[in-house]
Amino acid sequence: MATLGNPTNTIAVLQRYNFNFQKKYGQNFLIDSNILEKIIAAAGIDKDDCVLEIGPGIGTMTQYLCENAREVVAVEIDKKLIPILEQDTLSSYDNITILNEDILKVDINAVVRERNGGRPIKVVANLPYYITTPIIMGLFESHVPLDSITIMVQKEVAERMQVGPGTKDYGALSLAVQYYAKPEVVMTVPAGCFMPRPNVDSAVIRLTCHDKPPVTVSDEKMMFDVIRASFNQRRKTLVNGLGNAAGLNLKKERVLSALEEMGLPPAIRGEALTLREFAALTDLLAGERL
Ligand code: SAM
Repeated sequence: MATLGNPTNTIAVLQRYNFNFQKKYGQNFLIDSNILEKIIAAAGIDKDDCVLEIGPGIGTMTQYLCENAREVVAVEIDKKLIPILEQDTLSSYDNITILNEDILKVDINAVVRERNGGRPIKVVANLPYYITTPIIMGLFESHVPLDSITIMVQKEVAERMQVGPGTKDYGALSLAVQYYAKPEVVMTVPAGCFMPRPNVDSAVIRLTCHDKPPVTVSDEKMMFDVIRASFNQRRKTLVNGLGNAAGLNLKKERVLSALEEMGLPPAIRGEALTLREFAALTDLLAGERL
């Protein structure tokens, strides 16, 4: 079994199995061992850890995870990659479970119960970029017990996760991530570190999950509905954004008086509110939907 993480061995594996990259699955494999070592270090993996890897590809990062963690569960959608992983690149490890499934359909809570007795796991992944947001939101919203998520994402998406109010990248993703975790960009990664080269630059971001959210809110789901509606029509005022949102059933007058109660201007836009203010606004609006 060859150690991956360099162009020569990656090409050799791909040729041995006559593997063709599937664009629809966002397949850009890492070919730089320095980057791989930094990701493992940033994730702080040790022999106590159970790690979930999303999209192992040909198993490049998985090899590093298997060396460093107690147990690794890798979920890969592309069935053509499974024989490569099982018979070749991961065949010498006995601490790996490979699931040939779509991560968006896996009951990750059940995996955590079975593999780690329900204790928090670490997620490490070079994510398929076409489904970055649904993957992250799925992990958070299904309340999977999580210690941290260390992921390679598109550079702009990493920036969106960590910015605050008043910046153009601030939005529903920033607020959701910051409600559940503390985001820290670890490094940016140039396109040349992947095969094939993606059209965008990438970044590794670590999300250290909060034991409990930094703000309290009476109805978490309603707060995220309010946040989504506020950013759906970015150029609209908050009053119009929320007043027009079909699912929320909020009267504009009620939104106006809630803003007044909070000491915020009537023409304020969603992009100016902090997470704490969204929580306070939701509490004021809860139970007053009509
Ligand atoms: N971890 C490998 C690496 O770093 O070289 C591959 C990363 S590549 C960016 C993304 C991987 O996710 C691919 O192997 C792709 O087939 C897989 N993938 C794409 N969509 C997926 C899904 N819905 N569920 C599970 N895996 C998926």
